[in-house]
Amino acid sequence: MKTAIFLERDGILNLVRVEKQHQQVPLTLEEFRVNTEAAPLLQKLKAAGFVLIATTNQSGLSLGGVSRRELDRMHEVLRRALPLDDILVCPHAEADECPCRKPSAGLLTEAAFKWHLDLERSFVISDKWQDAAAARTVGCTSLLINSPWVGTTHHDFVLPDLTAIIDKILQLQTSNRTLAA
Ligand SMILES: [Zn+2]
Repeated sequence: MKTAIFLERDGILNLVRVEKQHQQVPLTLEEFRVNTEAAPLLQKLKAAGFVLIATTNQSGLSLGGVSRRELDRMHEVLRRALPLDDILVCPHAEADECPCRKPSAGLLTEAAFKWHLDLERSFVISDKWQDAAAARTVGCTSLLINSPWVGTTHHDFVLPDLTAIIDKILQLQTSNRTLAA
């Protein structure tokens, strides 16, 4: 079985504006800015053998703030800039009570089925508690970048930046391998 790194999209893979303590998610290709600093870091994870999967709540698809076509164009740009294997989207609004909107873990279980993943040896990277909660539900290790959205629910690690998170994952992967050997 393979192992994966799940990456929250907004605030990790693309830049977001922050207004009144809320992340303003890009709604058009014009507003979409890839976090290019992530590229060499993701290459390191790729080289270590991980499947790289972006996960994202995009309730704008249901509520009408963003069109599927515009989102697809943004994700084409993202795939060209970063070595992602997959991008999984929850298109629902909170009121839909779907199983895939984070903090629910539906996107992670969908990915596990599609990519034959061992979730207990996989990792989730985000700046929000919702991703840590989803990780906890399915047994992934969660690593959060310190932010106003870390919350008070369970997470495994909070670190200052993406570089520190990638170093931690590579270190944990090495000790897992040593334990398995
Ligand atoms: Zn959903």
